[in-house]
Amino acid sequence: GAQRESKVRVRAHFDYNPDVDPYIPCKEAGLAFQRGDVLHIVAQDDAYWWQARKEHERSARAGLIPSRALQERRILHDRTQKNGTDLDSKQNDDFDREQIATYEEVAKLYPRPGVFRPIVLIGAPGVGRNELRRRLIARDPEKFRSPVPYTTRPMRTGEVAGREYIFVAREKMDADIEAGKFVEHGEYKGHLYGTSAESVKSIVNAGCVCVLSPHYQAIKTLRTAQLKPFLIHVKPPELEILKATRTEARAKSTFDEANARSFTDEEFEDMIKSAERIDFLYGHFFDVELVNGELVNAFEQLVQNVQRLENEPVWAPSMWVQ
Ligand code: 5GP
Repeated sequence: GAQRESKVRVRAHFDYNPDVDPYIPCKEAGLAFQRGDVLHIVAQDDAYWWQARKEHERSARAGLIPSRALQERRILHDRTQKNGTDLDSKQNDDFDREQIATYEEVAKLYPRPGVFRPIVLIGAPGVGRNELRRRLIARDPEKFRSPVPYTTRPMRTGEVAGREYIFVAREKMDADIEAGKFVEHGEYKGHLYGTSAESVKSIVNAGCVCVLSPHYQAIKTLRTAQLKPFLIHVKPPELEILKATRTEARAKSTFDEANARSFTDEEFEDMIKSAERIDFLYGHFFDVELVNGELVNAFEQLVQNVQRLENEPVWAPSMWVQ
């Protein structure tokens, strides 16, 4: 046709099924998609209904999807419906999820020789994100590096300042957190721990791959155009496999000390619940989901993804690409 198609690509942050949408003008014309799908927006002329096709279905016909404005209105509407009923019981971070659950404009981010995006491993405690990070570093310590964290706790005998931690005074760390100098931080037994943005940048500037495995809440502060993190969700397999692989790993001592302790059934169930919560809150931000059943397989997948990142363009927020 004479009409030029738009070049806009978006990543959907919600699932959409036209079959159960009472407002779509024509169900047959709708395009179903899932959270995380990259959509090519072909036309945005109508205020409420865009035309789109899935990026990986180039030859398929375009279908109707709700526009950003329409989807935002729906979210606001749902939220007011819920007002006064279960609002108080909702956890605070649910709102982060709802605020952004429409579309995010994306573009292809091409690898640059010698400049590596930080690899960020996110996962429920106990699933193995720290173990995978250690293995990546052990495989090539010249290339893969993690920043030395800061802490306010006193140095222990045998520790060396700047090796295990950079030891700082509480007042200094409080002020630096306030000033936004930390990409992540947390409190443990009355002491602060955290990773500075500067230490991440210095690893990247040295031509190395910075590997982080912070608490999932760090996604909010890490996901910036400056750091351009590659986010991996390290997920548990289904319960039976989770139990079986950890029991086997313990017998063979394939996991490190921290992971080699035995978990209770309740702890295994918590891992799965916690992973589901991470997925609910941040699922649309992950570049890769990696199931950590057999550790060797998970590690192999991690290595493959890291190699792919070095060789192929990947979809990223379009704001990062300019
Ligand atoms: P320890 O004081 O025994 O060396 O470490 C206690 C705990 O501090 C660790 O298990 C971990 O949960 C936390 N921790 C260590 N480094 C960091 C960090 O860089 N950031 C955050 N948020 N917590 C850390």
